[in-house]
Order: sequence, then C-alpha cells, then structure tokens
Amino acid sequence: MPQMPGKKIVLTSDTTMMSSYHGGVMLGFAAIMPSRALPDWIFRKLFCPPVAAAADGSAEMAPCGMRKVEAALLEAGFSREEVMVAHPDHLDRAIGPETKIVGITHDDPMGKIAVREVEDIIGRGPPFNRTKFLELLRHPLIREHRPKVVIGGNGAWEVMGEDVFVDHIYLGEGESDFPEICRKIIGKESVPLVIRGKAVLGEAIPVNRKATIGGIVEIGRGCWRGCAFCSPAMRTLRHRPLEKILADVRVNLASGQRDIILHSEDFFSYGYRDGKPDEKKILELVSAVKQLGPKTIDVSHLSLASVHQNPELLRAVSRIVGVGRDQNHMSAWIGIETGSCRILKMHMPNKARPAKIDNWPEIVRNCYRLFAEESWLPVASLVLGLPEETAEDVIKTTELVESLKDYTGLMLPLFFTTIADTKLGGRKGFAREDALPEHWQLVGLCLEYNLRHLKKLHSLYRERMTAGPVVHAALKGINLMADHLLSKYMKRMKRGEPPN
Ligand code: SF4
Repeated sequence: MPQMPGKKIVLTSDTTMMSSYHGGVMLGFAAIMPSRALPDWIFRKLFCPPVAAAADGSAEMAPCGMRKVEAALLEAGFSREEVMVAHPDHLDRAIGPETKIVGITHDDPMGKIAVREVEDIIGRGPPFNRTKFLELLRHPLIREHRPKVVIGGNGAWEVMGEDVFVDHIYLGEGESDFPEICRKIIGKESVPLVIRGKAVLGEAIPVNRKATIGGIVEIGRGCWRGCAFCSPAMRTLRHRPLEKILADVRVNLASGQRDIILHSEDFFSYGYRDGKPDEKKILELVSAVKQLGPKTIDVSHLSLASVHQNPELLRAVSRIVGVGRDQNHMSAWIGIETGSCRILKMHMPNKARPAKIDNWPEIVRNCYRLFAEESWLPVASLVLGLPEETAEDVIKTTELVESLKDYTGLMLPLFFTTIADTKLGGRKGFAREDALPEHWQLVGLCLEYNLRHLKKLHSLYRERMTAGPVVHAALKGINLMADHLLSKYMKRMKRGEPPN
C-alpha cells in the first residue's frame, strides 16, 4: 500500500479513552484496573471496545474535549484536510511524513487518579490506562515520522516530571491557545514544554462537528466553590448559551447517539446568579433537550449543596426527563469528599454554601434520601488523606458512609493526589505508608458498599448499553468473580489492616 502523506494535525488518544464503553461510560472506570488482572482481549471486549471507525480512519465518536479542540482548529482557519480526529486502531490512515502534531487528549494518562489504592488492593502491575497511553506514545508511525506530541485534557498534569516521549504538556483550555500553538509548531517556532491555555467565555466554546462518547454535551465550565485539591476550582464559572448546547445535542443525535449527558461541574449551577440556581433556565434547558428526543438524559456532576438548596428543582427535572416513565433512573457524579466538618472548613470552606458547613453529614443524607425517592444514582467520591486529616476525621467519614449503605450507588475512596496548579499543588500526596487503620476500614467499607450494589447498578444501567447478551452475561460473571476475589481483601481492611 502506498504511504499516506498524513494529516498535518492528528487528534487522538488510546483505546481506554476512545471507547464506546458499550454505551455505558461507567465501564470506563475499568481502565484503572491493573493490566495483568485480565487478558488484553477480554478487557477490550468487555470494558473498552473501541469506537466505530469511519472509512477514512477517523473516529465516529470522540471525547468531548477532543471534539472541542477539533472545532476550535477548524474555526481558527485550519482545513478539514489538515485536521483529523483519528481512530487509534487506524493511525496508518492519519499519521505520515506530513504530520506535524499529534495531539493526545487524556483524563488519566499515567493512571494516577486511583492507581495507588488499586495497586495496594490487587497489585499486578500498572493500570490499563497507563499501559495503553505508553503504547500509543511508542506507536511505530510516531517514532518514524517524529511529529510533535502534545498531551492535553484533564489528566495532562500527570505527565509533568515523567520521563515519557511527550514534547509539550498543554494545561488549561484548548480553544484559546491551541490553534496558535499549532501554527507555531508547524512554523518551527519555539514552544515551551508546558503551555497554559487561557479560559474562554462560555459563548466562545464551539459547537462540535461530530458525536461525543457517551453523548456528552458541555453546558458550562469551572466552579466557584474553590476546593483546595480540585482543578475545576481554578477555573471561573461560565455557561454556554442554550442554542449552542442544543446544537451539540443535535450533532450527537444526528450521528446516531441516543443518550445525552449534560456536562458541567454542577448541573444546578447552570445560569447561577444571586447566590442560587436559576430555576427557569435549568428547566428550559432540560425541556429543550428532552424535546429533541434522546432516549435518556443524564447529568455528569452535581453539587450536593445545590441539590440541598432546592430539592424541588431536582424533582422538576426528574418529571421533565420522565424518570420512571421514559428512563428508569438518572445518574450523576457527586463529591462527598469527607464526613469531617473540620476538614471541610480547612480545605473546602464553600462546599455546603449557602447551608452551614457544620450540617454537611445531614445535607449528604438528605440528598441521598431525595436521590432514592427520585431514582437518581449517585457515584460519589471521597478524598482520603487530605493534609492534617486525623483518625477522628476518618471515623466521621466512615460513620457517614455507614449511614448511606442501603442507598444504591457507587462510593469511590480516592487517595489525595497533588494536582499541579491547585491550591494544594505543592503538598505531598497520600500513600499506603501514610494510611491509618481507620483509612483501611473506610476503604473496606466502600468496597463492601460497591460490591453490594454493583449487580443492581448493572441491571439499571442496561437501558443505556448497546452490548449484546454475551457481554452482559460475561459482565455478570466478572461481577461474581470480583465478589469472591475481593472479599478477602475487604475483610482484612475492615479489621483496619492493609489489604495485602
Ligand atoms: S465543588 Fe467539586 S468541582 Fe467545585 S471546587 Fe469543589 S471539588 Fe471542585
């Protein structure tokens, strides 16, 4: 076959990012598993099957952030002939001697988000996401043609200080500066190793050209709550105009997506002003999306404080979406982070606003009661080992989780990781050797909670999934195996001992 000249700018990622996840984006969590825990083909078949490829080798679906960068490049004057969102299995159709830039979007390229917990519990080497990312960097065509490799996306910070084959680390928003950076690279001008992209206005966030994985549609960026460990906290809160959001929904539906996830750091902050959610705007948004006819609608993230501030708004959203009628549930990622009001005051003083921070455990419990009544499934994160956390603080978190154990959901205990450019960016991350018996008890409790609810979550989640009966049967089998294999670690941790 004659060699392709290649596209000037190739946007891509590895298969843990460029996957349909069988229509169930939560399956993507499996990418944090150690790559020796499962044979590669089973991982690919069950958890991260690649997105469909078009005849020219481009990806039919891509992460939302990559689609935004593609749209920004096209709006900045690059032509379709120069820019391609390439399928990772078909890079031979994209990368050639003319390729100057390979832009990789990643959420967790080095597997730093949860790798230490997983390594401690299961062992068995590096996670799939790191393995696949490093494989992509070693792709023969990248080695042969030596385009400049630029890593961007939420996880780009993980590559800082790592000895990997990356020419530039792009932190921040792509729409602002990435097109100009590309021009400079193509023009052989000097470009720093670390680039910090400026934030753009909500109106300037472009409309995607093709479908996104999971049907993710961005409604806004940033968060005003300012938690010290969090990177969205460093970005000003902005929202996109309704028409642009609907245009992204239409692009997805026209490309065959059936499910839509409205993405922001807090759905109920859409149009936030005068210290409260803008009820009218939120209901207008949900009604307008519903009218376009997706099979299901979800929101990516919620602030529990916003839910607590106006529970009737969540009920109204449920009614418009048709939970219990048109779809069996809605889901959202939430941040509980801790049960200790002392730690909240220290690192997350705005977490509960406008409610009082001392009521945090009660706020969380009230929200879970509401979620259960309205069939919303929370995927909650906890942060363990924040600076100055004591055994008493951890016990408070354990008591809170204990009080939620009958509510269906997932509970993800994450060791505190220092993310570059956050308020706690200079502090040491939390590691196995720092863990107190109380930390292990909490991780054990979360594992017990997850194993208990996983089967129900799988059955509820099926309505979004495109997988056939064989994949579902295999997932059920893995579920049973996980029950069996992980229970010994769970028992040890619940006694306050490390898992192994
Ligand atoms: S509320 Fe969530 S998104 Fe906002 S700063 Fe805190 S952790 Fe980050």
